[in-house]
Amino acid sequence: MSERHLRQERLPQIGVDGQTKLARARVAIVGVGATGSHLAAMLGRAGVGRRGESGAPDGLLRLIDRDIVELSNLPRQTLFTQRDVDDVRPKALAAAEALSAIDPELNVEPVVGDLTADRAEELLGNVDLVLDGTDNFPTRLLVNDLCVRDRRPFIYCGAVGLEGQLLVVTPGGPCLRCYVPELPPPGSLPTCETAGVLGSVVAQVTSLVATEAVKLLLGADALRAGEVFVIDGWRGETRHLKLPRDPACPCCGAGEHPYLTEAPAAEATQLCGKDAVQLPASGARVDLDEAAQRLASLGDVHLSRFLLRLDTPERRVLLFADGRVVMGGTRDPAEARSLRARLLGD
Ligand SMILES: [Zn+2]
Repeated sequence: MSERHLRQERLPQIGVDGQTKLARARVAIVGVGATGSHLAAMLGRAGVGRRGESGAPDGLLRLIDRDIVELSNLPRQTLFTQRDVDDVRPKALAAAEALSAIDPELNVEPVVGDLTADRAEELLGNVDLVLDGTDNFPTRLLVNDLCVRDRRPFIYCGAVGLEGQLLVVTPGGPCLRCYVPELPPPGSLPTCETAGVLGSVVAQVTSLVATEAVKLLLGADALRAGEVFVIDGWRGETRHLKLPRDPACPCCGAGEHPYLTEAPAAEATQLCGKDAVQLPASGARVDLDEAAQRLASLGDVHLSRFLLRLDTPERRVLLFADGRVVMGGTRDPAEARSLRARLLGD
C-alpha cells in the first residue's frame, strides 16, 4: 500500500477500493488556464489517472490547451511559474510537467491544440469524464454535444470577475444547452480580460467541481446535477438555480448535437502582407455600442455603424457587426482565436 493517498483512503466514501478507481479513471480537461489548471492540480494530487500497477490498466489525465503561458496568468494558474513564461511554453506541456513532478506515476497526456469538432471524438471519446477548463462557449457547447450524445458526464464551470458558476451534466439530466440555448454574440459577455478575475474565486468554484468529479468517478450521485451553482466570491454567498430540462433543447431534447455535425466555419486566414488574422463571422449579430462600452477600458475605441476599432498598445482589433474579427498584432490563427475569446468572450 502506498503512503501517498493514505488520508483519502481513510475516508469511508473513498477507501482503498475507491482510491484504486480514481487511479484507473480516465479524465479529459479541456483548457488548462485558470479553472483548468486548478482542476488538473486537484485531480492529479488526488491520484486520478495514474499508471496501472502490476499489469492493471492505466488511468489517464488528458490536458488539452492551445495557449502559451503568459505573465498575466501567474496570479491564478497554479501549475505555472515565471520560468514557463520566460521559456514561452505551451500550457498543456507546462501543466503536464508540473503534475509529473508532483506524482511521477500520473499518466498525463498533454495535447497542444484546439478542440475542434473533427478532433472531439479522438480527444474525448475514450474518457470517463470531461471537465470544462475553457473560456469560450463554442468549445463548451461542442463538448456538451459530444458528452450528451455518448452519455458521458461533463462538468461546466467558469469564473469571471468575482463570480463562479458550475453545472454538472449527467445522462438524462438537463444539459449546458438547456442553460445557454444559443451562442452569445461576440462582445456580449464579460471576459477575464475586460472584467478581471480573482484567483481565489477561481479556486472556490474549481474546488466544488473537483469534489463533484471525484464523486462521479467513484459512482456516487452528483448532488448538483440539474442545477446551476453560482458563487458570489466577494459576499461569500452561493445560489442554486434549478435548471429544468428543456424538451425542445436541440442537444438533450431533439438529439441533434449540431456542434458535432455542422460544417466547420471557414478557416481563420492570415491577411496577406499584414500582421493580422481574419476570423470568420460567427453568425450572431453584434451589439457594437454595448461592445464599445465593455472594451473601453482596454484602449481607444472608435465606433462606426459597421464596425468597432479597438487600439491597444499591442494591437489593433476590428470587430464587424456580423461578428467578423480582424485581429492585429499576430499572424497565427490559433493565437488570433485565443485573443478573440479573451477580448470578446466568444
Ligand atoms: Zn439540453
